[in-house]
Amino acid sequence: TADMAQRVAVNDGAPGSKRTSRVRVAVRLRPYMDKQDEKGEGSCVRGLGPQKLEIINWRNATETLQYQFDMFHGEQTTQQEVFLTSVKPVLPHILNGQNASVFAYGPTGAGKTHTMLGSQEQPGIIPRAVKEVFKLVEAQETEQDGWEYAIGMSYLEIYNEKVLDLFLNRTTASTKLNQRSSRSHAILLIKVVKSQRGPPHRQQTGKLYLVDLAGSEDNRRTGNQGIRLKESGAINLSLFTLSKVVDALNAGAGGRVPYRDSKLTRLLQDSLGGSAHSVMITNIAPEYRYYFDTFSALNFAAKSKQIVNRPFVRETVLAPTIAPGKRAREEQEARGSGE
Ligand code: ADP
Ligand code: MG
Repeated sequence: TADMAQRVAVNDGAPGSKRTSRVRVAVRLRPYMDKQDEKGEGSCVRGLGPQKLEIINWRNATETLQYQFDMFHGEQTTQQEVFLTSVKPVLPHILNGQNASVFAYGPTGAGKTHTMLGSQEQPGIIPRAVKEVFKLVEAQETEQDGWEYAIGMSYLEIYNEKVLDLFLNRTTASTKLNQRSSRSHAILLIKVVKSQRGPPHRQQTGKLYLVDLAGSEDNRRTGNQGIRLKESGAINLSLFTLSKVVDALNAGAGGRVPYRDSKLTRLLQDSLGGSAHSVMITNIAPEYRYYFDTFSALNFAAKSKQIVNRPFVRETVLAPTIAPGKRAREEQEARGSGE
């Protein structure tokens, strides 16, 4: 087990690094939903503090797999908290000619659209970000700083490696979006153009991409509406390339970043890595029926993974949150006394 744990440890992400090109990765676990779990098996995932979670090990029920991320949002996390921690801090950069992107990644049914769009009662990242960008621009304009601001938006869909403008094709778009939202990427672009009122009339453009990605589930395995093998490969080319781009950026070895291999990554190239601020929110669901999709989403998102010798006990849902805090304190003390 020990060598296995070592073998699977991935991407330690150079913690002290000042480079801005890393994609920050957050994981959001949605609440357990009875109607998603006819067998009543309960959850197979649970949080262990602000950066960690654990999932049952399907290979060996006496072990759990623990994962660490830049941030973990448990099932109690509100839309407001997700926005405040993962999105709001990057918005001022858009007014200074810098770019940013926020992605929701994960299997269909895990909460991507809830996170990005939300509902009237629980607005998600998109309505909150739009409101905040307008607020920031208004605040700048009252400053009379010699610049004029304009805000523009576009709404695009990438399906089967084709880009469709949803603002121009609204009627077809809405039906199409409902039919195939799990297989297409929905992209809202907010652009802030800043122009100097006087000479030399300089101009700066900042772009923010908010992306509700296609479902990360394996279409070939789930036999998604009878689409042929070849097609499901093409549908997921953008998603597959995105994962390679994120891996390349976060490995940070200065290797080739394959932006040009798909429509999505080509479109987002200047808002992903480089000097841009990028956040990926991996949405996961706690029910057993999502287990393999959760497992593969976590393996993509994790900074590190560890196999721990203890069974996943359902009765202790609240207890484990105490242990990691205590452990972290002990580690801190140990480090403090060692130096
Ligand atoms: P996806 O877009 O990934 O397919 P959805 O956003 O449509 O998933 O979420 C699936 C269901 O779960 C929806 O009914 C949604 O309202 C609900 N849901 C998702 N995340 C949460 C959450 N954090 N809190 C409450 N309900 C949620
Ligand atoms: Mg959705």
